[in-house]
Amino acid sequence: MRIRSGGHDYEGLSYTADVPFVMLDLVNMRSIDINVENQTAWVQGGALLGELYYTISQKTDTLYFPAGMCPSVGVSGFLSGGGYGNLLRKYGTGADNVLDARFMDVNGNILDRESMGEDLFWAIRGGGASSFGIVLAWKLRLVPVPERVTLFIVSVTLEQGATDIFHKYQYVLPNFDRDLQMRVQINSEYIGNTTNKTIRILFHGIYQGNADTLLPLLNQSFPELNVTREICQEVRMVQSTLQFGGFSISAHVEVLANRSAIPKTNFKSKSDYVRTPIPKSGLIKIWEKMFENDMSEMLQMYTFGGKMEEYSDTATPYPHRAGVLYQVYKLVNLIDQPSDTTTISLKRIAWLRSFDETLESYVSSNPREAYLNYNDLDLGVGSGSYEEASVWGERYWKRENFKKLIRVKSIVDPGNFFRHPQSIPSFSDM
Ligand SMILES: Cc1cc2nc3c(=O)[nH]c(=O)nc-3n(C[C@H](O)[C@H](O)[C@H](O)COP(=O)(O)OP(=O)(O)OC[C@H]3O[C@@H](n4cnc5c(N)ncnc54)[C@H](O)[C@@H]3O)c2cc1C
Repeated sequence: MRIRSGGHDYEGLSYTADVPFVMLDLVNMRSIDINVENQTAWVQGGALLGELYYTISQKTDTLYFPAGMCPSVGVSGFLSGGGYGNLLRKYGTGADNVLDARFMDVNGNILDRESMGEDLFWAIRGGGASSFGIVLAWKLRLVPVPERVTLFIVSVTLEQGATDIFHKYQYVLPNFDRDLQMRVQINSEYIGNTTNKTIRILFHGIYQGNADTLLPLLNQSFPELNVTREICQEVRMVQSTLQFGGFSISAHVEVLANRSAIPKTNFKSKSDYVRTPIPKSGLIKIWEKMFENDMSEMLQMYTFGGKMEEYSDTATPYPHRAGVLYQVYKLVNLIDQPSDTTTISLKRIAWLRSFDETLESYVSSNPREAYLNYNDLDLGVGSGSYEEASVWGERYWKRENFKKLIRVKSIVDPGNFFRHPQSIPSFSDM
């Protein structure tokens, strides 16, 4: 059986299988009920993040939900893997802000938080709900946001000092005021009309407040970034979602709820977490490795710290918390290829795997952490024993959480009805 919400699963595990299967598509279960007074929302399992943001924006500009940037991501897949976004440093992951759920178990019982018990409620908020049953709806805590937030984008190349600025970013931003979130995007490109390559880094910031408060803070601790009033835009929170989602700030917010407005894309990606700043010599090695590819690659760093420092690694199954400086998301684009098996696609994917080796000495280790919502079957699929499953399971959840997920699974779905290549295994002796 396959369960699909937004259909963004990176390995297609919500809509493909090697054997004949039934797909439960929640596309028609997407009602959203916002309660401004109680600052809560009930959201059905098939709703998309863009539909949630749009619906909130029709009621208020001063509440939001701490979820991701892409409007076409499904609420259910997002929350069931943890879920990060522009309010992560202030309010934690999306799953940290789930208050209750309506959930169908393997026997067809419909449960809420009280009747499912705290262990199962813990498991579906980061452990991958599709290993346990079907989430029909989520009750969310909405969080306060100011009427205006400040956006800015700074773009620098190697010739403009990008290596030094990124090096400093690693020290400053994870410890910065939690009202600021920054996404850093790194690409290679040709220098002008030459065939020489350079690296371009985009620092995309969003601050929960106005430019008057942000600028002195940034100019004091990070003047090299050179954020000026001219490049700051003060907008409603929902407009920031338009910009981070790839739309113009002036686009009508309705576009967030338009399922056909988002173009299809095709890529292979992998994730990592960085806990120690990468030295400049390491950054130079990374840029050199990027120059070996055909410019189809992209790296995205997402800043941690702030509220994430306050949770224990076991608060939810999502364990990438205190001590993480930033998450690394790296991909090769296959959008210009008819499939992921063309010679060019295979070459790019091979490059991405070798890039993983380049990064190994600079990212977290024992375990080398990975994000469940960027699931990657290259990490392994064996689940015949704990030793086999721990090869990939401990990378997503670390040991303590993975063992607890297996214990919960063995109680709620001992026959392993809800399974896919990287689902939580059921072992009776854990
Ligand atoms: C363009 C893009 C941008 C992204 N941006 C972000 C981001 O900013 N932050 C972030 O954290 N992640 C981001 N992601 C990753 C995203 O969170 C995951 O891909 C997520 O799993 C997608 O959820 P979905 O519902 O769309 O996918 P689906 O493919 O529908 O589901 C993903 C998994 O959840 C299971 N599932 C879905 N619905 C249910 C349900 N109702 N009950 C039980 N199990 C269910 C599926 O079976 C599958 O295992 C992004 C992904 C893409 C493609």
